[in-house]
Amino acid sequence: MARFTLPRDLYFGAGSIEELSNLKGKKKAIIVTGGSSMQKFGFLKKVEDILTKTGLEVKLFEGVEPDPSVETVYRGAKEMQEFGPDVIVSIGGGSPIDAAKAMWVFYEHPELTFDDIKDPFSIPELRKKAIFVAIPSTSGTATEVTAFSVITDYSTLVKYPLADFNITPDIAILDPDIASTMPPKLVAHTGMDAMTHAIEAYTASLASPFSDPLALKAISMIDDSIVDSYNGDKDAKGDMHTAQCLAGMAFSNALLGIVHSLAHKTGAQFDLPHGLCNAIMLPYVIAYNSKVCMKKYAEIARFIGLSGATDKQLTNSLIEEINRLNRTLNIAPTFKENGVDEAYLKEHIDFIAENAQKDPCTGSNPREASVEDLKKILECAYYGTPVNF
Ligand code: FE
Repeated sequence: MARFTLPRDLYFGAGSIEELSNLKGKKKAIIVTGGSSMQKFGFLKKVEDILTKTGLEVKLFEGVEPDPSVETVYRGAKEMQEFGPDVIVSIGGGSPIDAAKAMWVFYEHPELTFDDIKDPFSIPELRKKAIFVAIPSTSGTATEVTAFSVITDYSTLVKYPLADFNITPDIAILDPDIASTMPPKLVAHTGMDAMTHAIEAYTASLASPFSDPLALKAISMIDDSIVDSYNGDKDAKGDMHTAQCLAGMAFSNALLGIVHSLAHKTGAQFDLPHGLCNAIMLPYVIAYNSKVCMKKYAEIARFIGLSGATDKQLTNSLIEEINRLNRTLNIAPTFKENGVDEAYLKEHIDFIAENAQKDPCTGSNPREASVEDLKKILECAYYGTPVNF
């Protein structure tokens, strides 16, 4: 038996932020947001105004940091307990939305701690106190539709990857105007993160007839629009905002694979952005996984119109297409070219591979990956040598 869960309502298109007025009848909203960008571009004010005009009392929780901490989450939950909102509105990049999801859990269940909810599917029922609205300002993580949230305990350097359908938002608002402010480098990194979500979801062990069409459509839209989006085209940016969400719907249910396992650990160890690590790893992992799921990669290649007479040729075309996108987006294809020191790699590679093997994403990878395999893939992605094992 399997489960497929998405937000109940999704509003999309230019100006869809106005749909917050559908919250008529609700009494109190807390807005959770990050740094200053939503304020700078006027979106925070807009959200506040719409909610107030709709008749809600509004409170702000600002300043959620990138990679939000346990302390921020507990602080937000406490403010929620004092204020008593029946709507939580999170607006911004992945971090404030992730933080707000965790605050929501401790608002509804003040007796719990992170230790109680760190295992997948251990979060109790929510929505007795509040519903959850997510408005993403970046096009990549898709946390507005996923069952995931990542919170960091900086005292122990442990990351809690919360995973439970109870934290899948109730309402997602995809207003392309809000995401149109992303600078090109962020477009490239978050866009390749979304491409990785879609490709990993299509080949993950929990992929299903429900997630596959979402993943395929996401891949084809990203392939069509990521470069134009990088070059600032407004329509392409809008398409990327939609496509990353489709990818999120797919991977929230089908899960991911070892591109993400390795990206989680290399990102932290090499201090490189998540999307960049995915972009580097993706071609190497496709080559590695193709030993067991070449047919699925060939299906992707065929769906986006790449050439090849055999599954092998189609898979190679897909790898070449990812390499082409990386080149066009000015993403250097190896860790070495991204400035990672060779001695540093050698010193840490065992640690990275061991930890990547324990990452929750490793379990849903189509090919069972040993620590030794992960180490070899990392070496290939460092030096740019082909994966042929
Ligand atoms: Fe990701």
